[in-house]
Amino acid sequence: MRVAILSDIHANLAALEAVLADARLQGVDSPPWVLGDIVGYGPDPDEVIEALRASDALAVAGNHDLAAVGALPLAEFNALAAAAAAWTAGVLKPDSQKYLQALPLKIEKAATCTLVHGSPRNPEWEYLTHIDGLVENLAHFDTPGCLYGHTHVPVLVLFDGAEPRVIEYKPGTPLRCDADRFYLNPGSVGQPRDGDRRASYALLDLQAREVEFRRVDYKVEITQQRMKMARLPQPLVHRLALGR
Ligand code: ZN
Repeated sequence: MRVAILSDIHANLAALEAVLADARLQGVDSPPWVLGDIVGYGPDPDEVIEALRASDALAVAGNHDLAAVGALPLAEFNALAAAAAAWTAGVLKPDSQKYLQALPLKIEKAATCTLVHGSPRNPEWEYLTHIDGLVENLAHFDTPGCLYGHTHVPVLVLFDGAEPRVIEYKPGTPLRCDADRFYLNPGSVGQPRDGDRRASYALLDLQAREVEFRRVDYKVEITQQRMKMARLPQPLVHRLALGR
């Protein structure tokens, strides 16, 4: 069975809807797994939470989700992220607040995968951007796979023993994921930062041990328009078109 792995949706409903539609077209309509930062930066926090509820998503909390419900101090964020978090906190409906407050920091799924936002040893804040961090974190989860987000950059790294292999990929091409341990970051649905503005996610087949990265075009202008109406900071509006 294939599962859609989503991360860093960041309150971007147009991007989320495009991704869920793409997954359905691929024959995947089981509940998606979501690796945190559901809200923050984007204009549609309530709508995104509603869509995730409707699809029965399995989700962990990210730092932006925690900040939006007062569970992380805004002082730890840069100025733009803090401004967006304060706006989000101000508009969230009580039901959405409850949803975010109830999210765990870590989920172990059927002895196959550990789901976190940042890293297994520090789900709220650690950025796994270097091999060293991946090697060190191997001791902090027990499942073969670790699914993480937070960096907004899609990555697949396989470990046979302690030897890492960073896998080159093309979106839309299935990859073997048959090592002892692996790390998968599906990239960001709502604010990609790898120079490609299209929404990023991954399809994971746990039985066949296959991963497919996918990129989905969506109407970035719709989200940008809604951000302007909400008076969210201009640089955040601008970066969506660049994928940076
Ligand atoms: Zn994020």
